[in-house]
Amino acid sequence: MPYRVKVVREFSAAHFLKRYKGKAEPLHGHNYRVEVILEGDLNEEGYLADFLEVNAYLKSILPEHRNLNEVIGGNSTTERLAKWIYDRMKERFPQVKEVWVWETGRFAASYYEE
Ligand SMILES: [Zn+2]
Repeated sequence: MPYRVKVVREFSAAHFLKRYKGKAEPLHGHNYRVEVILEGDLNEEGYLADFLEVNAYLKSILPEHRNLNEVIGGNSTTERLAKWIYDRMKERFPQVKEVWVWETGRFAASYYEE
């Protein structure tokens, strides 16, 4: 399936790792950047997915201004946040291929399925 599209959004949330090198981090915030990548064939109108619909749905599921420890449970790592977003996007858009989450401008993690 040769086509891929990407939708990017930012959101802000708080979290702390409950277990990081044997102890808990202090509560702090990040301005996360989320990249959702969809892959598939084009429809009769020549597009893979409606950018506006993907963008609106992504906005609706992102835990804006929430404490991620309460939302995703367990250790709220960037990797686990990527899977949490992937699973929710997949419910609406089966063409979702991969979700990247940038915790800072330097550090990012992704989740994808073959
Ligand atoms: Zn953090």
